[in-house]
Amino acid sequence: GLSIGIVGLPNVGKSTLFNALSGSAKAQAANYPFCTIDPNVGVVPVPDERLARLATVFKSKKLVPTTLEFVDIAGLVAGASKGEGLGNQFLSHIRQVDAVAHVLRCFVDPDVVHVGGKVDPRSDRDVVETELMLKDLESVEKRRERTQKNVKIPGKAGEQAKLELAVLEKVKAGLESGVPVRAQKLGEEERPVLGDMFLLTDKPVIYIANVDESQLARRDDPGIQAVKEMAEAEGAKAVVICGKVESELAELADAERKEFLESLGLAEPGLNALVRAGYEELGLITFLTAGPEESRAWTVKKGARAPQAAGVIHTDFEHGFIKAEVMGFEDLVTLGSEAAVKEKGLMRMEGKEYVVKDGDVMHFRFNV
Ligand code: GDP
Repeated sequence: GLSIGIVGLPNVGKSTLFNALSGSAKAQAANYPFCTIDPNVGVVPVPDERLARLATVFKSKKLVPTTLEFVDIAGLVAGASKGEGLGNQFLSHIRQVDAVAHVLRCFVDPDVVHVGGKVDPRSDRDVVETELMLKDLESVEKRRERTQKNVKIPGKAGEQAKLELAVLEKVKAGLESGVPVRAQKLGEEERPVLGDMFLLTDKPVIYIANVDESQLARRDDPGIQAVKEMAEAEGAKAVVICGKVESELAELADAERKEFLESLGLAEPGLNALVRAGYEELGLITFLTAGPEESRAWTVKKGARAPQAAGVIHTDFEHGFIKAEVMGFEDLVTLGSEAAVKEKGLMRMEGKEYVVKDGDVMHFRFNV
């Protein structure tokens, strides 16, 4: 599955947040076997209100949400790119995730030491981003040296090397002037050069403002404002969360959780917004399957075609794909049953080229 790495300086609340994510996963889906792959990896259900409504229509025994992986990446300090702290180990963990959730401390607490001396999310963000850019610079430089040798090869390989070299030099210059790779303007034909480098600042970022309970309702909070402005300036998403509150919420039963949320003036746990932001940032959509056994949500990349969706359920479904019966979620809920949807002629038969839409309820026909 796709994964999101939680990064940030020490003492900003990463572990607290990660524990809340893992805790809520256990609480929300007690009957679903979330495997613990690694203590630092949490498989988190993607909140989706459609599942419960679908389960009502099909009288399903079970609800199975789709999931997203979060990875707790500890150990970043200033100087990590030079091997300080957990240094390179830390950076190699970032290399493996698909997106980065950057936790920025906005809460003020004299009992929790701040590595930078004061609460300043903008400066914290710069410290972390600088380390990641330095590491990328190192990767680009290594690649550039190798590519330079290939420029002399006659024919196609040499031509290709020249193109690559130009891209690498452009990216290098960008990094040197402080622009993360994701924000650099690269052409369609230039992007693929970076394809197998997994550059750290090429990954999509979500900023998390970690606040105190008292800041949750304060829209004028300077820390929150700073995080939102920073995110907006680079077209990223910002999510406001109180890690402490989230970890308490994760421990509560449904009724109590609702009450606690109301007392805080929140419509839902902040983690839900975070999981959704991650899902969107990764370009993912959900399709659904439903029957008396279970109503279930599945994840595909935007633009996936019907056979690929079938393949998420089982690889045999993809290979033997014949067609998909597709119903719209809204049609099902409005009309109240699959039979009613069929009767109205709203169940569609789709073939191999069909592009899956978010909220499609699908049955697959396949050869085995
Ligand atoms: P990490 O080093 O980034 O993983 O940070 P931790 O999650 O271990 O948190 C560091 C300290 O900050 C712990 O003592 C937490 O209890 C505290 N902390 C985390 N989130 C909050 C918060 O929202 N408000 C306050 N006041 N303290 C928090």
